[in-house]
Amino acid sequence: MTAVAQAILPNEALWEMDRAHSLHPWTNFGPFEDKGSLVITKGQGCYLWDASGRRYLDAVGGMWCTNVGLGRKDMAQAIADQAERLAYANYFVDVTNDPAARLAAKIAELAPGDLNRVHFTTGGSTAVDTAVRMVSFYHRAKGNPTKTGIVAREASYHGSTYLTQSVGKRNGDRIDEFDYKSEGIWHLASPNCYRRPSHMTEEQFCDDLVAEFEALIAREGADRIGGFIAEPIQASGGIVIPPKDYLRRMWQVCQKHDILFIADEVVTAFGRLGHWFASLDEFGVQPDIITSAKGLTSGYVPLGALIFSDRIWDVMAKGGHRWFTSGLTYSGHPVACAAGLKNIEIIESEGLLEHTRKVGDYFQSRMGELSALPLVGDVRGRKLMLCVESVANRETKAVLPDEANESKRISDICEDMGLLVRPLGHLNVMSPPLVITESEIDFAAEVLEKAIRRVTDDLVREGYR
Ligand code: PMP
Repeated sequence: MTAVAQAILPNEALWEMDRAHSLHPWTNFGPFEDKGSLVITKGQGCYLWDASGRRYLDAVGGMWCTNVGLGRKDMAQAIADQAERLAYANYFVDVTNDPAARLAAKIAELAPGDLNRVHFTTGGSTAVDTAVRMVSFYHRAKGNPTKTGIVAREASYHGSTYLTQSVGKRNGDRIDEFDYKSEGIWHLASPNCYRRPSHMTEEQFCDDLVAEFEALIAREGADRIGGFIAEPIQASGGIVIPPKDYLRRMWQVCQKHDILFIADEVVTAFGRLGHWFASLDEFGVQPDIITSAKGLTSGYVPLGALIFSDRIWDVMAKGGHRWFTSGLTYSGHPVACAAGLKNIEIIESEGLLEHTRKVGDYFQSRMGELSALPLVGDVRGRKLMLCVESVANRETKAVLPDEANESKRISDICEDMGLLVRPLGHLNVMSPPLVITESEIDFAAEVLEKAIRRVTDDLVREGYR
């Protein structure tokens, strides 16, 4: 066993070990048993290499997360230095460490308004899970013990713990085998402009969505609803860009009813839209809580953080219950926090927010050209967060039957040509590292166009179109 683990293994051996012993996140059992996994062994900038030495441009950015790019000596050095100096220290109750204290202060400096309080977690799910529980802690401390319910949206993804899977609700995720929590959780419609009722303008659609929220509050009672959670742009639910003013108006409804606004910025924070945080700078909303992860360390090591307001802190600290009974062994992990600090330093010193705004416009316009293709119903996104949606019919926006499997086929052809894009329902999704260049974007657009054309021809031949 030890000898096998330490030897340099060929692609086939790694592939077979993985197939025989791993349960991957969100595994689709059938295809996994048939085909196994792509074995990745190296990353540099926007590129990945598999175990057979093939190179891929990773337009997915790992999982929306490799923001400053892979293989950086400065990140590796910061992590190694911290691991040597202090790899771990208990962070519970009244012990802290140098990188955790500095990173909390740095995040507070970057976060909007009075979001000056930081609670570290191990990733996005644990940040959202804690944020949802913080909502009831806050309202109970304020003397409103029933104000614990959470309003979320369809097509949202907030993580994979029991609570966050119950709060999120993407099409097709829900299976009977997992017994989700439903009491005290409500789901409003997804603000998907592309899929809005055909007789409505974007403004009317927005009015409708806001009215749905107000009707829910009137029906269930503001005294039972403590928080509203929203990804500024729904990410894995389909790159859903809300109608103009939607988020601001939903926030105003929240303020009117003392409902805390949680912005789930696990994907959008730390640069993806060219800002540290998208809520205020992109959408004009001052959230009460922001959840973040991914771009916080650019995926070098796991780390999440929820960032909350002084107002929440004051209420919680002065409430009857003096303990915030939540925290993880690896909260405030020194190595993860050192990675977070170096990552932020790199984004600042290399001007990656400005770069993202510029190259993001190019990405949007270059990928936007794909909307001329007959299979493409919509190309949408902001800056370095984008998807291409395939349809059977561009007029009716009807989707292809599931057996057509077009987005996976498009991704597979791209992979053969050295480009990774993510298939997601009828979409192909991209969120490349912020360091991507215009010529790399050109390559991605050219490959994706060829793949879409080839799949379109196949679909015609097979009678799907
Ligand atoms: N929230 C959002 C918006 C996400 O996209 C994700 C992960 N894709 C999560 C939460 C969960 O984060 P993690 O996988 O790090 O637990």
